[in-house]
Amino acid sequence: MRTGFIGLGAMGAPMARNLARAGLLTAVWNRTPAKAAELAKELDVTVAADPADLAHRCDAVCLCVSADADVLETIDALLPGLRPGTVVIDHSTVSSETARLAAAKIRAVGGDFLDAPVSGGVEGARAGTLAVMVGGEANTLEKARPVLEAVGGRIAHMGDVGAGQATKAVNQVLCAGINQAVCEALAFGRALGLNLDKVIDVISKGAAGNWFLEKRGPTMIQGSFEPGFKLSLHHKDLQICREMARHRGAEVPLVEKTLADYRRLMAEGHGEEDISALLRLWYQPDGNCQKN
Ligand code: NAP
Repeated sequence: MRTGFIGLGAMGAPMARNLARAGLLTAVWNRTPAKAAELAKELDVTVAADPADLAHRCDAVCLCVSADADVLETIDALLPGLRPGTVVIDHSTVSSETARLAAAKIRAVGGDFLDAPVSGGVEGARAGTLAVMVGGEANTLEKARPVLEAVGGRIAHMGDVGAGQATKAVNQVLCAGINQAVCEALAFGRALGLNLDKVIDVISKGAAGNWFLEKRGPTMIQGSFEPGFKLSLHHKDLQICREMARHRGAEVPLVEKTLADYRRLMAEGHGEEDISALLRLWYQPDGNCQKN
């Protein structure tokens, strides 16, 4: 399957590298052209002139861009080049409604669409072990399976278009809770005077161990918040969760609390940092670990 990739950010670039390793990558495109030129040179693939040119060259088109409006804008831009039967696979995290809008646009010109958001962080993207939550027709998924297997370690068909994004929304609520719990626990451990490196190491092997603590714990206690997963992107995801919950009458207090905390951090200029920067609200500059 000749595959193209649009959106070569923290997630997209390593995913494109894995497609190249699997012998599937034909072309790339990125809004900031220098990123596409650099990656195309590294992987010996074509830089498409624009999204339509990329679509015209490929049997499968993967996207991994930031937010809902960016996905719809990119789909509009690729439509003129899309050939019937081409599968568009959206790996961005957006709402189920956006997935359904995107699918309608693609199907109107004879293409197929899958919403296929991912989880596993930049580490999972590099290793090709992402969890991929897929919405769409089963036969479209089978057609696209080689592409998904090049980036994912676990591929799950969740239902019709939109079901992948709904599953990802559940994942993002959990990420908020885990981030809150890890920050509270680390600040508590600090107040108890413990060696936090040792705490993280031993706890990670037990029942409270989790991906976030293991991967981000050691850097966040050093005050290093390189993304990773940008706080502003998780804020965007939690706004999607809030909307979805509102529609279904579900209660999401963790989402509300985390949105308020992220809003404060973004106002202080920390939106481009990793979500582990939430710890800033627990560690005061003077070393006092009471929540400020
Ligand atoms: P990122 O590093 O900020 O990259 C975003 C990419 O989207 C860049 O290539 C950017 O182009 C492109 N883009 C944004 N708006 C665009 C537009 N209007 N038209 C065309 N291209 C546009 O973000 P990321 O961390 O890779 O995240 C990408 C998506 O994956 C998001 O939906 C995020 O929620 C999701 N996700 C992220 C993680 C993670 O751990 N980072 C994990 C799972 C899912 P430029 O280079 O021109 O800015």
